[in-house]
Amino acid sequence: MAQKRLPLHTKILLGLVIGLVFGLVCIFTGIPNSLVIHYIKPFGTIFVNALKMVAMPLILASLIVGVANLGDISKLSRMGGRTIGIYMATTVIATTIGLVIVNIIQPGKIITEETRTELMGMFEKDVVLKADEAKKFKEEGPLQPLVNIIPDNLFDSASKNSNMLQIVFFAIIFGIALLQIKTDKKHIVIGFFEGLNDVIIRIIHYIMMFAPYGVFALISTLIVEIAGNNPSKAVEILSALLLYSATVLIGLLIMILVVYPTIFKLFTKVKYRTFFKGIRDAQILAFSTSSSSATLPVTMESVENNLNVSEEVSSFVLPLGATINMDGTSLYQSVAAVFIAHAMGLELSLTSQLAIVITAVLASIGSAGVPGAGMVMLVIVLEAAGIPAAGLALIVAPDRPLDMCRTVVNITGDATVAMVIASTEGEQVGQKRVID
Ligand code: ASP
Repeated sequence: MAQKRLPLHTKILLGLVIGLVFGLVCIFTGIPNSLVIHYIKPFGTIFVNALKMVAMPLILASLIVGVANLGDISKLSRMGGRTIGIYMATTVIATTIGLVIVNIIQPGKIITEETRTELMGMFEKDVVLKADEAKKFKEEGPLQPLVNIIPDNLFDSASKNSNMLQIVFFAIIFGIALLQIKTDKKHIVIGFFEGLNDVIIRIIHYIMMFAPYGVFALISTLIVEIAGNNPSKAVEILSALLLYSATVLIGLLIMILVVYPTIFKLFTKVKYRTFFKGIRDAQILAFSTSSSSATLPVTMESVENNLNVSEEVSSFVLPLGATINMDGTSLYQSVAAVFIAHAMGLELSLTSQLAIVITAVLASIGSAGVPGAGMVMLVIVLEAAGIPAAGLALIVAPDRPLDMCRTVVNITGDATVAMVIASTEGEQVGQKRVID
C-alpha cells in the first residue's frame, strides 16, 4: 500500500512540538540535563551551522546573478532607495507601537521591590557581560557603520557571517561591473555564479531534510537550559515577568496581524494568508534558531519558490533586511526600556521616550541577526534614555523565548518588504514557482 508522506513543513512543526514535550518530560522526570546537552544539543548546533555555512556563498552568488541580470543600474538604485525607506518606516512604526502599548499596560509598575532586588542580584553577571559587548558600539563614531560596510579584504570578510553587509556591498559592485562589461567573457562569469547559486540551493534542500530533527534538538535543549537545575525557581521568575512578556508579545502580534497585513493590502495584490503559508518554514526556523542570519537561506528560498519573488529582489532585499531591518527587536527594545525604567521607579519624560524611539531604531539596525543581539544593543537604548543599564538584569530571564518570537517578526518584516518591492517592480508574486 502506498504510504502518504508528510509534507516537510508538517514534519518541522512536529519536530518543534515533540521537542517541546520532550524538553518538559526531561525536566519533570529528572533526566539529567547533561544527557540532553551532550547528546541532543549537538544536532541542533550542526543544523544551525549548516544553515550558516551556506549563507555567505548564497548571498554572493545570488546577488551577483541578480544584479548582473537587472539590465540597468537605475533599477537597482530605485529598488535600494525604496527598500531602505520601507525598512526604516516599518521599524519606526514597530518602535512606536512598543512604546504605546508599554505605556498603556505599564507592566513595570507591578514589579515589587523584593522581586526587583532578587532579579538584580541573580543576573548581575549577565549585565556586566552585555554592557561589555555594547561598549564597543558606544565608542564608535557616527560614520563607523558606513566604514564597516566596505571590506578591506574580501576573503577575510567572507570568512565571518557577521560581515554580511560587506559581502552584499562587494556583490553589488561586482554585479554592476559585470553588467557594464561588453565582451562575451561576462557570460562565463555569470554562468559560473548561476551554477554556484543552483548548487547552493540544492544544498539548502539537503539541510532542510534534516530540519525536523534540528528543530527538535534546538527546542528540547532550550527548554532544559532555561529550566536549569531548579525548574520551579525558573517558573517563579518567569511568572513574575509574565505581564512584561505579554506586553512584548501583544506588540509583536500587532505587527504580524495588523501592520504587515495593512502593508500587504496597500502595496500588493497578494492575500496575506498566501504569504504566510509561503514563509512558514522560515518562520518556524526563525523561532527555533532565534537568528535571522541563520534563517536567511530559507527565507530567500521560500519567497523565491513559494511566492515567486525574483532572485534580484530577494537576494538584494533579504540579506539587507536580515542585518538592518529588525522590527521585532526594535519593538522589544522600546517595551523593555520603559519596563525597566518603571520597575526601577523612574518616570520617563517625553524627551526620554523620544530618545528611546530614535535609539531603538538605530540599535535594531546595529543588532546582528544572532540570538540575544537585541539585548546587547538595549544597553545603548537604556543609556540614551538615562535608565541605569543595571536594570537589564530585570529582563534577562525571559529573553530567549521573547527572542524567538521577535526573530519571527524580524524575518516576516523582511519578507513583507521583499513582496512589496517585487510587486512595485511589476512582478507577478504570490504563486508557487514552477521549477523544472
Ligand atoms: N535574534 C534576533 C534576530 O536574529 C535579534 C535580536 O533581537 O536579538 O533577528
